[in-house]
Amino acid sequence: MQYISTRGQAPPVTAAQAILSGIAADGGLYVPQTLPGYMPAELAQLDYAELAERIFALYLDDFSAAEIADIVSGAYSAANFPRGAVRLAEIGDMTLLELWHGPTAAFKDLALQALPRLLSAALGKQQGDSELVILVATSGDTGKAALEGFAGVPHTRILVFYPEGGVSRVQELQMLSGGGANTNAVALGGNFDDCQNGVKALFGDEELRRALKQAGKSFSSANSINWGRLLPQIVYYYYAYGQMLRSGRISAGEAIDVAVPTGNFGNILAAWYARKMGLPIRKLICASNENNVLTDALERGLYDRERPFYRTSSPSMDILISSNFERFVFDVSGNDAAYTAAAFAQLRRQGSFVLDRALRHVYAEAMCGGYAAQAQAHAAIAEVFARYGYVLDPHTAVGWSVVGRLREPGRPLLLASTASPYKFPAAVLGALGEEIGSGDELSLLRRLAAKTATEPPASLAALEHLPRRPRIGCQIGQMRELVSELCL
Ligand SMILES: *Cc1c(COP(=O)(O)O)cnc(C)c1O
Repeated sequence: MQYISTRGQAPPVTAAQAILSGIAADGGLYVPQTLPGYMPAELAQLDYAELAERIFALYLDDFSAAEIADIVSGAYSAANFPRGAVRLAEIGDMTLLELWHGPTAAFKDLALQALPRLLSAALGKQQGDSELVILVATSGDTGKAALEGFAGVPHTRILVFYPEGGVSRVQELQMLSGGGANTNAVALGGNFDDCQNGVKALFGDEELRRALKQAGKSFSSANSINWGRLLPQIVYYYYAYGQMLRSGRISAGEAIDVAVPTGNFGNILAAWYARKMGLPIRKLICASNENNVLTDALERGLYDRERPFYRTSSPSMDILISSNFERFVFDVSGNDAAYTAAAFAQLRRQGSFVLDRALRHVYAEAMCGGYAAQAQAHAAIAEVFARYGYVLDPHTAVGWSVVGRLREPGRPLLLASTASPYKFPAAVLGALGEEIGSGDELSLLRRLAAKTATEPPASLAALEHLPRRPRIGCQIGQMRELVSELCL
């Protein structure tokens, strides 16, 4: 299968090359030229690893069956996911797809346990560079999941940039604990968009690329601009549908709605691709917080990043430039690279673009957007705990709140639950009406456990006792220098 750039100015490549490069040379994102159809009759019987192998094989035709089997069994091992890769919870009349049973307690683990293995296999297929320098911009959860996934992986060096003061204390401590000799995390004086723009600029820095090349190295990305991040995420929507069939929640062929708390538009895009591949999804609901640029884009056709940036209790959604929206525009325009390139050039130059009305008709029946302010999300946390004894994290709570207003009554609904509430104990306890002092956020894990009679994930409970690295700080203008210093 060929992978093409959304901007049409880079040659088509194989899956291995797309995953190794991360981003195309013309600044576009790689997408498969065509999407395969897939809807197995025995879906309800397939376990997670079997399903992942089958779906990976559809897209990775330059990987052998043995390579794919290795990648999948390593990524979704019982050591990484002792309670299973994903779990479903029936809360009221919604089905929650709990995606946070991996090593770092957020959905990013499902892709970032597979990606290093995909990259290693891809590296083995090509001649040339012997080491990958992987730059990551994180709004909190990708960082730790990438550090965990890549720690000790041969031929890789990984550098994570997170917004200083823009992640929860638990998220920061996760990034400063553990890791390998090949990993570093850096606090950048800026917000997530600054991290992402800075990393993209480094990828496009010809001089730096040449210097790396001379040292036998090349850049890659572990952000969801990398196709190797999106592919593993398609799997769990199929798996969830199969499990809903199995439990009798839905009948064969019944169309469900899927809601996803969204930031960079990666997770929901995977659901969009699943729908196009034939999974019976009626409508996707894209949930945002106060940084509701996607709500406006989907509902009014205006993508406008020139607006105030809010720091919220759902930091992984505090994003104004959602990279994967470019893949969506490319898709709904019928793979029109000229149109897509022009739209995103305008976004860079003028800070906004308008989607053609005709394109909005293409997705109107299948995708909608809504947002919830922090107070609404916190009210959802309190309400769901009071009614069901179930604890939502602040991101999932945004989704819950939006769904309450946008869902179709009676339609089975799957809500992606993207993180454990224990990653955000201060926000969750606050939402549950507890006074939060100025103490260490880690002591709040115990308070949350006591308050809700639930258990923190073992990896978070262990944080208190793990050795920590010193915090490295960096200003936006110093990123290049730091990368040269640490990676060359
Ligand atoms: C990353 C993240 C999101 C946003 O996902 P995207 O794929 O960037 O849209 C939502 N919730 C949590 C907890 C996350 O870590």
